[in-house]
Amino acid sequence: MTSGSTGVTANVPASPIVRVPFLDLIAQYESIRGDIDRAIAEVVRTQRFVLGSEETRFEKVFAAHAGIPHAAGCSCGTSALFIALTALGIPRGAEVIVPTLTYPATAEAVVLAGAVPVLVDVEADTGLIDIEAVEAAITPRTWGILPVHLYGQMVDMQAIAALAARHGLKVLEDAAQAHIAESRGLRPGALADAATFSFFPGKNLGAYGDAGAIVTRDATLASWMRQYRNHGRLDKYRHDFVGFNFRLDGLQAAVLEAKLPHLERWTDGRRRVASLYRAGLDGSGVTCLVERPYSKHVYHLFVVRHPQRDRLKKALAERGIDCGLHYPIPLHLQPAFADGQAKTGRFPRAESLCQELLSLPIFPEMTQEQIEYVISEVRARA
Ligand SMILES: *Cc1c(COP(=O)(O)O)cnc(C)c1O
Repeated sequence: MTSGSTGVTANVPASPIVRVPFLDLIAQYESIRGDIDRAIAEVVRTQRFVLGSEETRFEKVFAAHAGIPHAAGCSCGTSALFIALTALGIPRGAEVIVPTLTYPATAEAVVLAGAVPVLVDVEADTGLIDIEAVEAAITPRTWGILPVHLYGQMVDMQAIAALAARHGLKVLEDAAQAHIAESRGLRPGALADAATFSFFPGKNLGAYGDAGAIVTRDATLASWMRQYRNHGRLDKYRHDFVGFNFRLDGLQAAVLEAKLPHLERWTDGRRRVASLYRAGLDGSGVTCLVERPYSKHVYHLFVVRHPQRDRLKKALAERGIDCGLHYPIPLHLQPAFADGQAKTGRFPRAESLCQELLSLPIFPEMTQEQIEYVISEVRARA
């Protein structure tokens, strides 16, 4: 705000603080309490905690909702990635191309499966894996591509699928942040060998604990995955192959089934907040990451860039607004994945994005007052 007489920037007058949490899962619970309590009570009443009818039912409704024929429930999004890679027969030492800007679980699953994550840079304006960088990273040892639909926006899957077909590569989508997102009208799993989801409580569809799922168009693959996540057995006593315990918990399946009918509406709510943010932050000191024309973004996160990100984050926190960082350190600079080559300058777009990115609060229950307050505070302080 400038004072007309002196042209000097004055302090912003201290308006009352409005509390804006990063995410409000209590508000979500309050809005569907009856359904959730009934679903949980039913599992407790029947004591069907492991592989009862809830899991099977949820797998069916989730697949139908995702628009992909088959789903396998599992213990979390990280195990979903690991199971999918294993089911696809990933060879030891094979290379899998992974974006350097993602949650570490994406690369962890590749390492746990005995393969090598080959990191590549991302696009500066979306944070998504750069498809030209993927192509440049392909070697004779490349086995597959693991695009991440970061922040809720899908990578251009038509382009990835065409590239994979040209080079004979597998494609596994990490859709942990992208339930019911679309790329040219198609959802995760439509153009890949499989796609994985996380139902971590804070994800767009969240359980009351850890949970995950894999979707695939391949029925054989799906039944292998279901068998694998349950010790490789089909019935109580026969183990056809060595699997593990990566099962979806019955209580989580019941909660997820109760929440699923609301996902469409919640996603619309997130998209509405995002469009108000975009309009309200136009011409402010922050730059919003873009939504590509091919894509239907589901705004798991609303990410902006600012050259003094840490200062802005602190100033907003002092005004009652909780922001997040997704993610402040790219994988190539994480000791766990650096492989002795942790040097800056390797992936300049991801590196500068990581220094500038800031996730603003976004959740479907945000009130008009909260949205307008975030916009005016960001405008005043950026
Ligand atoms: C949350 C997340 C995961 C891991 O999911 P969990 O359910 O926490 O194991 C993997 N990849 C991405 C991109 C995520 O956001």
